Amino acid sequence: MDHDLGLKCTICGEEYTVDQTEYVCPKHGDDGILDVIYDYELASRTISPQTLAQDPTRSIWRYLPLLPVDPGAVRALIGHARYPSNPLAAVGWTPLYAAPRLAEKLGLQHLWVKDDGRQPTASFKDRASAIAVVKTRELGYEVVTTASSGNAAAALSGLCAAIDQPNVIFVPKTAPQAKVAQLLVFGATVFLVDGTYDEAFDLCLVAAPAFGWYNRNTGYNPYMSEGKKTAAYEICEQLSVAGSTEGGRAAAPFQAPDWVFIPVGDGCIIGGIHKGFKDMLALGWIDHIPAIAGVQAAGSSPLVDAWERGLEGWDMTLVEAHSVADSIVAGLPRDRIKALRAARETGGAYISVTDSEILAAIPELAQGCGVFAEPAAAAAYAGLVKAVGTGLVGSSDRVVVMSTGSGLKDVAGAMKSVGQPHTIAPDLAEVRRVMNALR
Ligand SMILES: *Cc1c(COP(=O)(O)O)cnc(C)c1O
Ligand SMILES: [Zn+2]
Repeated sequence: MDHDLGLKCTICGEEYTVDQTEYVCPKHGDDGILDVIYDYELASRTISPQTLAQDPTRSIWRYLPLLPVDPGAVRALIGHARYPSNPLAAVGWTPLYAAPRLAEKLGLQHLWVKDDGRQPTASFKDRASAIAVVKTRELGYEVVTTASSGNAAAALSGLCAAIDQPNVIFVPKTAPQAKVAQLLVFGATVFLVDGTYDEAFDLCLVAAPAFGWYNRNTGYNPYMSEGKKTAAYEICEQLSVAGSTEGGRAAAPFQAPDWVFIPVGDGCIIGGIHKGFKDMLALGWIDHIPAIAGVQAAGSSPLVDAWERGLEGWDMTLVEAHSVADSIVAGLPRDRIKALRAARETGGAYISVTDSEILAAIPELAQGCGVFAEPAAAAAYAGLVKAVGTGLVGSSDRVVVMSTGSGLKDVAGAMKSVGQPHTIAPDLAEVRRVMNALR
């Protein structure tokens, strides 16, 4: 590695080299989640907005000098920048859509939707799992494992299949069928755990050292946030290319929005995206960090509760959690320290939305901008609707909604959000009858 990485405990601030600890702060055990620290001066010798403007790579790998992996290992796995040799090469650089009809409906002037349903395995988790498979190879592990509510596992097994890497998966037996199908099709060894996601997580945590597997677990492996931060880089780079200097901000090469709305379960996505903005501010690529809003489902909202009560991550304890939005059900969010800081340090907020608000958001987002989101992903939009309603977000604010997973991940969830089709005989008169009734 040529970028002089360090690791810093999010609880005590102690710094370590990457050889001193593999996952967490030795003083704080499994709670001692680490931040990855870079030498920005060193990184900026090889990457800048100017070099990026010339770079044909359309994936997270365009940010290689700011990722915690050996560039040589990555290049060997993905082939040529312009011609992806397998899906690992195609992670990231998802579209950021302007959404004028949705904006108008909400009374906003500037709204964008970033569609991570377009990732190789159809969720945001590919950004983290991409780093996990490279680390597995780099560190010489034969097997990589993860616990997951579904998408992190689908991402890991899919990207492992892309490079022929054995993997073992722990998911709760309630995971949606499409996600379990992905795991099996990609050839993972799959354990459906008769318990909650939190229980599957704890089981994976003890299984990994018992069998000598590399552990990708969210909020435990420090490198996962680093993959997730690439969404922040992309947002600011894409907004600058979109010529979005309206609003009068052009002091920095890339454009940060005013608000980013993110659905939150474990808190790794929100913590990772916050990290991405912090990197860019330190590098002088943006002139401010947006306010970050975390959106949770009302039945699984320990971070909203901690936010309202002013608790720190280490004050939180396991609570019962349920929602239709399975990807954001977490009774003890594993990345809770980073997750709370993301909202606190940016003037953001935590917001909860009910399952019925989440379900209503699915067709609204789909019909308002053409993005079909799974329930967890639609929760971000539902949170924006609420924040506009309470006046938290103003009409001239520039807002990005992070759509984190494809609606095809959970068809049963989507069907709860819409009516029934018109079942008819193959007869034109029947079509007339229905069309007349619709008028
Ligand atoms: C995992 C996931 C989330 C939440 O991410 P956390 O890091 O657990 O907070 C949101 N949406 C989708 C689709 C996910 O898969
Ligand atoms: Zn510590």
